Formats: sequence, structure tokens, C-alpha cells
Amino acid sequence: MDIFNGQNLLDFCERFKTDNDCREYLAKVKWESGFSCSKCGHLKSQVRKNFSRTCNICSHTESPMAGTLFHKVKFGLRKAFFVCFEMSTTTKSLSASYMAVRYGVSENTARLFMHKVREGMKSSGEHPMDGEVHVDEFVVGGREEGKPGRSYDSKKKKVVCALQLTDEGKVRRFYALKIRDFSSKSLKGIFESHISKRAKVTTDEWRGYGPIAKNYSITQIPGNNGLSFKALHTMIHQVKSWIRTTYSWVSEKHIERYLNEFSYRLNRSQSKASVFNNLITRMVKASKIYHTQIVCS
Ligand SMILES: [Zn+2]
Repeated sequence: MDIFNGQNLLDFCERFKTDNDCREYLAKVKWESGFSCSKCGHLKSQVRKNFSRTCNICSHTESPMAGTLFHKVKFGLRKAFFVCFEMSTTTKSLSASYMAVRYGVSENTARLFMHKVREGMKSSGEHPMDGEVHVDEFVVGGREEGKPGRSYDSKKKKVVCALQLTDEGKVRRFYALKIRDFSSKSLKGIFESHISKRAKVTTDEWRGYGPIAKNYSITQIPGNNGLSFKALHTMIHQVKSWIRTTYSWVSEKHIERYLNEFSYRLNRSQSKASVFNNLITRMVKASKIYHTQIVCS
């Protein structure tokens, strides 16, 4: 099967005309390296008209959606594919109310599915950043936006972020993580999940980074109100305004998902052609998430 390439909406419509076209695509992604029965582990199966597979030994039938983030998508797979296409190729912030109007589903349905998409966008953490990396923290939400210093105001969501620079000082990759406070213990999270020990890290003079420097190469310099970290501060500004314009109320529980979405798209801005296929593959390989988990977690 050819993977879907590009950002052209007309090509996309032509390729995915029915729910079954989407099932076929999911089946190809899911079983690209062969079928294995989820009940008995047998490797041979019959392919059904709707691209489900029936195990030759135990007759268990598995749909292409089973065990993926497309499991139990109630509003039709084609709509789900369009939402994925929009979310992966856009450069704008898309809200659940926008998606609801565009695809004729309820806002709640749109929101739940968009959270599943964001789950697929979550970084694997398998490719830590090296080279030149800048790290800083910021807050979103709350009323005291703009108040200087590291406020411990509990209404604000605290975030630590890291940026890998190119040789030209531009953005190569960006990750952000929600944290409880600005302590070393909390700040360490982004190092452990996204920064290689070989990286040359620069931070401002916040004392919280001190203890982390035992395990990482960290240089601390004066922040100069962001001037020392221009590329990173441009990113921080973008994340904040993106969150502010799209989500009137940023749930504490969901902020990490919005950060995942932002980082995912940004880190793939150089590989836009294959981004839709990348997202679908991740959503197929990710373990399934039930609605309840999304609402409650
Ligand atoms: Zn079986």
C-alpha cells in the first residue's frame, strides 16, 4: 500500500471516500508486518470484506480498529480521518467547537476524539535531544499573567520546556512538560525524558537547575528577560498564545495533551508530507484509551 503523502485536501478526499477506505488503510498499518491473533497468537487468518481478520485456529475476528485509538469511534472512521488530517497538517489552533461544526458532531464528541489524537502525538521519548539545548520554565492560565518571578500561585499551570537549536540558532526540536512546581525534582523530568546526557544545556540562573547539573552538562547564564534565550522565548510565546486563543479554560488534566500536540506539529514541520501517515501509525500502535480514562485521568 502507498502511504498517504502531502497536505492536499482534494487528494485526501479522493483517497478516503468511504469508511471502508479508512478501514483498509488502518488494516495495512496495523498488520504491515503480519497478523498475530490477539486471543491465541496464531499467525494465519482470513481477510474479510471489511478488512477485519478472522483467526484460522480460534475464529476470533479482529477489526482494524480494535486495540488502537480508533477503537469505538462512533461518528464514523472517515470523519475521524479528516480530523486527524486537519490536526496533523494545520499550523493553526483548532478547537473542539470548530471541529464539531466542520464535521457535524457534538462538541463533546469532537473533544474526546481530539484528546485521543493528542495521545497519539505524545512523544515516545526515544530520541533525546543533544547538541545545543536551552531549558526554561513558564506559566499559563491564572490571572496574574505577566507577574515577574517564579510565582507559586496554584492557579497557574507550570511548564518546563526544552529547545534544541540548529547550528544556525534556529528551532530543531521542542518539548514541554507540565510540572507541579519549579523544584529540581520537578524540573528534572524534562531532562530524563527528552535530553541526552551528551547535550550542552544552557539555563538561566534559577537555583533549581543546580542539582541537575550533577548529571547533565549545564551552563547557567543571566536570562536578561528572555534576551539570552531568544528562540526559546519565541516558542514559549507561541505556546502561550496558542493555548490562550484555543482553550478558554485549560484543564489541569489536559494541558499536557495540548503541549504534546504543539510539540508534535512543531517537531514535524520539516516533514509535513508524511505527517498524516505518521500520526495514523502512532494511533494504531498506541494502546487503546477508553473515554472514561480521557475524562477522568
Ligand atoms: Zn486465534
